Amino acid sequence: MRICWIMAPSLTFLLLFILLLNGTSSIPNGKRKLPHSEKHQGVACLGCVFMVSIVEQLSQVHNSTTEKAMERFCNYLPELSQLRGICVLVAKLFGPRIIKLIENHMNADMVCHSIHLCKQSAGQPYCHLYPLPKVGLNVAIKKSKRLAGTKVLNNIQGLSGLCSLPFLKNLCKKIEVFTKKHLPYEDTDGDKFSLFPTLRGYHWRGRDCNDRESSVYPGRRPDNWDTGKDSNCNGIWGVDPKDGIPYEQKFCNGTESKGIILLGDSAGAHFHIPPEWVTASQMSEEGFSNLLEAISNELDWPQFSGITGFLNSTIGGWTDSIYLNLLRRNRCNHRDYQNLSKNGASSGNIRDLLESLARNQQFDKPAIVIFAMVGNDVCNGQRDTVKAMTRPAEMRSNVNQTLNYLDNHLPKGSHVILVGLADGRFLWENLHNRYFPLGQLNKDVTYEQYYSFLSCLQVNSCNGWMSSNGTLRDLTTERASELSNVLKEIAKSEKYANFDVLYLDFPLKQLVELWQKSGGEAWQLIEPVDGFHPSQIAQALVASIIWKQILRDWPHVLGKENPFNSEIEAVFNSQGGH
Ligand code: CA
Repeated sequence: MRICWIMAPSLTFLLLFILLLNGTSSIPNGKRKLPHSEKHQGVACLGCVFMVSIVEQLSQVHNSTTEKAMERFCNYLPELSQLRGICVLVAKLFGPRIIKLIENHMNADMVCHSIHLCKQSAGQPYCHLYPLPKVGLNVAIKKSKRLAGTKVLNNIQGLSGLCSLPFLKNLCKKIEVFTKKHLPYEDTDGDKFSLFPTLRGYHWRGRDCNDRESSVYPGRRPDNWDTGKDSNCNGIWGVDPKDGIPYEQKFCNGTESKGIILLGDSAGAHFHIPPEWVTASQMSEEGFSNLLEAISNELDWPQFSGITGFLNSTIGGWTDSIYLNLLRRNRCNHRDYQNLSKNGASSGNIRDLLESLARNQQFDKPAIVIFAMVGNDVCNGQRDTVKAMTRPAEMRSNVNQTLNYLDNHLPKGSHVILVGLADGRFLWENLHNRYFPLGQLNKDVTYEQYYSFLSCLQVNSCNGWMSSNGTLRDLTTERASELSNVLKEIAKSEKYANFDVLYLDFPLKQLVELWQKSGGEAWQLIEPVDGFHPSQIAQALVASIIWKQILRDWPHVLGKENPFNSEIEAVFNSQGGH
């Protein structure tokens, strides 16, 4: 069964991409969704081209046969996940044909078209990542199809509804079961806080400290000054034996303690695909050790993000966040963060995020809510992308609905900060002529080619900005700035009972200046694998820029510095950690 290794990696990536697209990463708005089959077809092709490229490059880097390269890749995958076993299934279907194609010097585009994971739809262009072959497209396709053999797998053509195929249904289920099985306990108190990191656990909102009592959770005002227990999980409780005063009363009372809540999109959740997963020369078993954790966090890394990050980054750069600054300012704020973000979120589709908000008007502390939908209202994968963008009137109505909801759920004295949309022309300007990770080894794929491949497959997260059409990029920016203006006007004119509304521009210009001043280059601020999201460095720098700006312009939002911080540290140390 040596050949059986053949498609495991490919499937892994297909699944990854499906998870990510099902997580609505490129779907801006429910009413304009692509039909599922079309979406899956694009994803299947993308996954196939990625995978075949990786295998080809692994064999090049290690000077080995294609078979050996596949085996090598499969051995990098986490054993526990059973991903290594997947190939057995698929190899039976695809195996020998792919090896034959690769060893006949067919590039990944040709291979994936030959085995029908990439399909050219009638009247649509031929989608390709690599430059077209010199012999001409038709000749090359004919040749590769001949090599692949005529009996191609009709039953999986297009792979529409991959997870619904009988033999893959099981696999999809396995990934879900695996992550659930490794939960150390069941969530018993039914509140929204958890002792488990991923699956929307404490990587996303402050760790629970008593999962049996639903009245104990981060962010609440202390119950009876927490004399007997830590009801708000900030690590501060009990009574000072010297004077009989409860510590919560002594250290936190009147200190304007508050939490941070993000309503965001994939940038806020910190979407990131590690470049080591797709770069043959850097690939290793260790590099894939975080694969399952990443999948069970929806390929997001909120624990390192610029608004709610709290762990030291393990994916390059460093962590800085509004939460960490808020904690340094007042240690009573420990663990009071909620990252309510989702890949693909935009002003019009955040009802479920709002409903996942955990804040009790009666019992909890006020919160700073950051509303940061920085792209998806203008970013979509539609061919007529401008038509699918949110219009200013829709934006106004969406945001008003959100603010009304918040007014009914936030404690008095809260603050809402609306962040404007980013100017995504930055992406093209800084990336288009650079090599995409898959193109670095042989210098044959730039981001321009990658963006155009994504558009062709209709899986481009942002046809407006990730495009070679300069007029279209300008139009997209124009709409983004109209939508930002709506936010600005709302902040100026609307009044709410339980919070004030403030507006911040997305600080792209300051971000670039700050990074360049310290010797960095602008392209490093963008995620290399998707060519779209802010990188770890950008996350941390944006946090420090925004923090300083709020501190300068609206210090009341952050509350005063707590004079008891060092005493809290002396008595409670790390306050139970995160
Ligand atoms: Ca407490």
